[in-house]
Amino acid sequence: MINENLNIYLQALNSANSGIIITDNLQPDNPIIYCNSAFEKISGYNKDEIIGHNCRFLQAQDRSQAERQLIKESIRDGKECRVEIRNYRKNGQLFWNELFISPVKNDDGMITHFIGVQNDVTDRKKIEYDLREEKSSVEEKIQQRTKELMGKEAFLASIIQTVRESLLVLDSNYVVLSANNHFLSSFKVTQEETVGKVLFELGNHQWDIDTLKDLLTKILPTNNPVTDYEVEHHFQHIGKKVMLLNAYRIEFEGQYKDRILIAIEDITDKKELDRRKDDFLSIASHELKTPLTTIKSLIQLLQRMDPAKNPDQFTTSLDKVSIYIEKLNKLISKLLDTSKIHSGNIELHLEPFEIDKTIKEAIENLSVVNPEYEISFSGCTNASVLGDEMQILQVFNNLISNAIKYAPGSKNIEVYINTVGNFVKISVKDFGMGISHQDKIKIFERFFRASNIQKKYPGLGIGLYVSHEIIVNHKGTLWVESEVGEGSTFNFTLPVIKN
Ligand code: ADP
Repeated sequence: MINENLNIYLQALNSANSGIIITDNLQPDNPIIYCNSAFEKISGYNKDEIIGHNCRFLQAQDRSQAERQLIKESIRDGKECRVEIRNYRKNGQLFWNELFISPVKNDDGMITHFIGVQNDVTDRKKIEYDLREEKSSVEEKIQQRTKELMGKEAFLASIIQTVRESLLVLDSNYVVLSANNHFLSSFKVTQEETVGKVLFELGNHQWDIDTLKDLLTKILPTNNPVTDYEVEHHFQHIGKKVMLLNAYRIEFEGQYKDRILIAIEDITDKKELDRRKDDFLSIASHELKTPLTTIKSLIQLLQRMDPAKNPDQFTTSLDKVSIYIEKLNKLISKLLDTSKIHSGNIELHLEPFEIDKTIKEAIENLSVVNPEYEISFSGCTNASVLGDEMQILQVFNNLISNAIKYAPGSKNIEVYINTVGNFVKISVKDFGMGISHQDKIKIFERFFRASNIQKKYPGLGIGLYVSHEIIVNHKGTLWVESEVGEGSTFNFTLPVIKN
């Protein structure tokens, strides 16, 4: 009966999938006294090669595994243990062995045997390993990507803050997510007033611009960007602005996000300068054409004339031709001056001269040419200045001719000269139309002409620009004091030569 049972047990052990061994702890070196078929299969050895051996042959040369120490301790202490250990088949192939060891005690409590149950867990280990590898490579990739993105973000943020164009990022509800410094300074607003607010409600609804609303509502659904759309709008604190708008739905790594980037270029000054240039060109061509037409008709007249028969008429016409040629000459010099000044190519012929004398003589000459005007002179400096006398005269003559031109109802012009610290100061006062505060800011800019005088008084808007540059080149200053309707006083200073 016992034998029969034993047989059944042995058959059961042999049909198990786990490798099972029994070692005899009472014999030296704890040899294997039993192994089942699964153990033969797992290890690649047959029973004859196994029985009598200590289990250590399974580790082949791979002896320094920490698990071996655990096994030793559990055998020494007669305790159960579970380890996963690298074992080697007969053909040298590695397999991971999940090993359970449990001691068998006799009635006296002595450990007589150990039972070892083994499972080949190589596949599971491989999957675990692959998973671990995969995970760490994914983590590494994520870290790398995050680093790249953070780098990119910092990079983009620095670009966005540096560009001299206003940039806004909006979400799909047109709430401002970010605004760059240029936007804040151009529209005189703070971060707090801007970020987190709906664009159209910003600053007392000053961005509630119908065309802008229309454009933006079309961007998100269609992905169609708005390019170079010109908007003119009056802002509460900064006045009228002409802006060029570019708006895009943000595309990031091929994916559209519900974000809109708006780039706002302030082209107010550019537009104004373009307009002034156009006006300048049409006036300049007109100014050049008028004397040319006169010269042309005078020459036609001269061609038909017999000088012997009409000597006086002939001479008068010739004189007229030369006057108009001189006019043309002056105009062309003026234009050349502007371009030279603008490109910084004007030469200074510096020499000491007595400023009182120069101004006095200039007034005398101007009075001869404009006898109907009373140009008074007062003050005295007794100073010498180091400068280009011709250029200083050009400035002075320009101020006097403006004082004549822009004061049609008045005949008086006052010139005053005095010393202020290390400078001489020359003032030209007229009693004409005066200049508004807004115009005063721009009066020394190239091609600027006050809008109220455009048609009535001919001019190119370059005289004061050239004068200003000349005085600045002499390390002096040129400025105006004026009220509309109360005349203007143009002043300039020049440094005095120290004795
Ligand atoms: P232009 O006289 O050819 O227009 P300027 O550069 O000399 O060019 O002057 C620029 C503008 O400044 C003039 O168009 C005029 O509007 C204004 N301006 C200059 N001088 C006077 C003045 N004495 N009184 C009033 N406005 C003046």
